[in-house]
Amino acid sequence: METKLDPVNFTKSSKSLVINMFSQLTRRQLAVALSSTIAAPLLPAFVAEAAPLSYTLKPQEIADGVWVIEGAQEAITFENGGAIANIVIMDSTDGAIVIDTGPSRRFGEALAALAQSLTSKPITRVYITHFHPDHAFGNQGFDAKIIAAPEGVITGLKEMGNTFSDAMYYIARDWMRGTEIVLPTISIAKSGVEDIGGRRLRLLPLSGHTTSDLAIFDETSGTLVTGDLAFLDRAPTTPHADFGIWRQSLSKLNDVSARTTVPGHGPVEASQRAVSQTKNWLDDVERIISENFEQGLDITEAMNTPLPENLTRLTLARYEFSRTVMHLYPKLEASRLPRVGGRAVD
Ligand SMILES: [Zn+2]
Repeated sequence: METKLDPVNFTKSSKSLVINMFSQLTRRQLAVALSSTIAAPLLPAFVAEAAPLSYTLKPQEIADGVWVIEGAQEAITFENGGAIANIVIMDSTDGAIVIDTGPSRRFGEALAALAQSLTSKPITRVYITHFHPDHAFGNQGFDAKIIAAPEGVITGLKEMGNTFSDAMYYIARDWMRGTEIVLPTISIAKSGVEDIGGRRLRLLPLSGHTTSDLAIFDETSGTLVTGDLAFLDRAPTTPHADFGIWRQSLSKLNDVSARTTVPGHGPVEASQRAVSQTKNWLDDVERIISENFEQGLDITEAMNTPLPENLTRLTLARYEFSRTVMHLYPKLEASRLPRVGGRAVD
């Protein structure tokens, strides 16, 4: 099933559409409202139209028959075309396996060609780790019949895909041309091992970064692909997060005896540092924000509060911290509203 956008008219209509949708918001709020990883510097629009719009995918082989295409350590901008998430390709005797498809049709098509040339085989399976656009908007490069994800990912794409599309077209513009949402057709119901062409993949449907996140442990090579449940040296994004559930998922990932970890964003390492660093970020950020709230700081003061060095050394630390304040503060405020007859006064 596909949700159609009109790529021809989009350039003409998208700007006013987005402005109408979000005219009450500031630029920063717009960026927060729209997506997980979308950049604040949205304007000026329509620059650099002459840039060559082709993605240069540079696969690194991290284990026998396992490649990673590392995303830029940035928020989504026109300059990076949304190619900020890590993407994985694996070889198997049945064909290539791809984990996440990137931000656009153009990216998905380049990725599909690369996976076939690296493995000299057709693509047999694609997994989507979660519904954020930098991970799932390249689905058009692949046959929907071989794309698998947990049901929550499929529902999330169905419900939020068009809002994400609007934002992506607005920011990444021509990179997005012709991009439509393609829903996965294979629903992953529970955890378990799937053997694809001699590669044993342990599927771990979890949640916390969003309402539905898939991690995959390739037992054959010892590679753990976390999706955005783990970030490394780059601040985690939280617009759809549940911190408590996310921590539980991280402790499950910590129990996996991985040789190598591929985070959703950040470098690949032969350690579980991405998992522990993400947990520390969630702990520290949640504590700092609730302390700020208890001290009576308003939202702007809380966004500008000094951060400890272990947080500020992560790329995009201040940006993501501010966005997290914007997500958490209204919830903290709602929890303090006077209640009448057991119901919040609104
Ligand atoms: Zn994400």
